[in-house]
Amino acid sequence: MKKVIVIGGGLGGLSAAATLARNGFDVKLFEKNEHLGGKLMPVKLGTHHFDFGPNTITMPHVFDSVFHESGENPRDYFEWVSIENHTQNVGPDGEKFLMSTDPETVIEQLNSIDPYAAKHYPAFLEEVKRLYHLSEKAFFHRTFTSWKDYFSPGLFSALQKVKPLETMDHFHQRYFKNPFLLQVFNRYATYIGSSPYVSPATFSLIAYLEMVQGVFYVKGGTVKIAEGLAELARKNGADLLANTEVSRILTEGKRAVGVELSSGEKIEADTVVLNGDLLEAMPSLLDEKNRSHLSNRKIENSSPSISAFVILAGLDRHLDDLIHHQVYFSADYKKEFRELFGGEWPDDPTIYISNSSYTDKSVSPDGSNLFILVNAPPLAANGKMSIDPEVYKEQIYNRLRKFGITIKPHLKHEKVFTPIDINRKFRAFRGALYGLSSNRKKDSFLRPFNRSQDIQNLYFAGGTTHPGGGSPMVVISGQNVAREIISAFDS
Ligand SMILES: Cc1cc2nc3c(=O)[nH]c(=O)nc-3n(C[C@H](O)[C@H](O)[C@H](O)COP(=O)(O)OP(=O)(O)OC[C@H]3O[C@@H](n4cnc5c(N)ncnc54)[C@H](O)[C@@H]3O)c2cc1C
Repeated sequence: MKKVIVIGGGLGGLSAAATLARNGFDVKLFEKNEHLGGKLMPVKLGTHHFDFGPNTITMPHVFDSVFHESGENPRDYFEWVSIENHTQNVGPDGEKFLMSTDPETVIEQLNSIDPYAAKHYPAFLEEVKRLYHLSEKAFFHRTFTSWKDYFSPGLFSALQKVKPLETMDHFHQRYFKNPFLLQVFNRYATYIGSSPYVSPATFSLIAYLEMVQGVFYVKGGTVKIAEGLAELARKNGADLLANTEVSRILTEGKRAVGVELSSGEKIEADTVVLNGDLLEAMPSLLDEKNRSHLSNRKIENSSPSISAFVILAGLDRHLDDLIHHQVYFSADYKKEFRELFGGEWPDDPTIYISNSSYTDKSVSPDGSNLFILVNAPPLAANGKMSIDPEVYKEQIYNRLRKFGITIKPHLKHEKVFTPIDINRKFRAFRGALYGLSSNRKKDSFLRPFNRSQDIQNLYFAGGTTHPGGGSPMVVISGQNVAREIISAFDS
């Protein structure tokens, strides 16, 4: 039996482990944290349950496919809940737009906010559908292990058709004239940790996921996805070890031969998969002389995606004004992105709130479980932040009060996560949520390969590599890498 070691138990690592174990590999996965799921992490404060990380789940078929490939019924592991009217957007002047997978609901609102958009909304949906299907066919399920993978004629022609040179903002202006609506749809750039004013229109395909395929929740909390994948991997025979940190990748020449744990124990392997953020992990796991294609200088020069400042607030009552997802927008979106990518903390940040107890009281029976997120700049190269978290938190509560959301008098529990916490807890490069940003065209389409260019049998799965960040993408990444390893041993 060939031995594979997976470093990191994020969603990408779990999907790779489950798929490899199902295909007859002897899989050992090491995760430094006590939970499996990486950035998708359960937090319990009193009777309030929180899903840290992914709260907005799209592409449920991707998660299900890992179970189907193992001959299992995903519904034996967790249950999807589709949310039709999913996100309430509130503009800087209090204007509202409720996002829905029902086009009638959307067009009815557009008729009063933006008649031009109401007329063009069906064409918008057609165009984002086209972008999605092209990208899915050409990029999502493809592993990129060397430059030659980029030069296949099919890929090149697909690349030209997915609007790589138009910005997301420019593309949205073709369909929406109202500035608030533009903000609402431009926010999709933050799902890949980037700015709508520079990232390619390709990523407007996210509108197809949310406005057509749908936004999903999982009964009992989105962490059930990670728990389900871990259970599946174990059922398939993988050995998943939490609270176990890998400190070195052991090599002989240009091959990985195993890993060393922080306890000093050495474990042999025929292949190693790194699921942790490779920009953060590689400098500590592999000597620089063994990774000429990923030097410290190259890592330092990479452009991380945005980070986040998160408040988990457990309240003494359920707030009637809040649905499952809502966003309160800043007055000047361009300024906010200039600040975020200029290393500054916005003083008027756009605020996202997930309140999963609206859909599922069982996760927080005694009051709302608010996951409050504002985008934050990635950490500076010296690892420092330029704000006082206590002061910034108060600023967010004050802004929410202006939108009529009063939280502080009802607070029973509270926990704050800053980019420093995200960096330390998940070993995320500069606290970035999605690895590299997609602001530079080359970072959108030329992310680090799924296989090391220096060590032949070292593979990368997760948000820093192909096809990109976001929970469904990293699951695909794990599956892609597993298939690549399976075929490497078949040939
Ligand atoms: C605040 C926040 C909000 C988000 N919101 C959404 C959302 O709404 N929807 C969505 O789809 N996505 C969202 N994301 C993004 C999503 O969480 C990530 O893209 C995805 O979960 C990353 O998975 P991954 O497989 O790359 O691994 P990660 O989750 O990054 O996990 C990697 C794991 O490797 C471990 N590790 C690293 N080095 C070592 C080592 N040496 N030894 C042992 N273990 C190691 C780390 O501890 C970590 O657990 C959000 C992320 C955050 C942080």
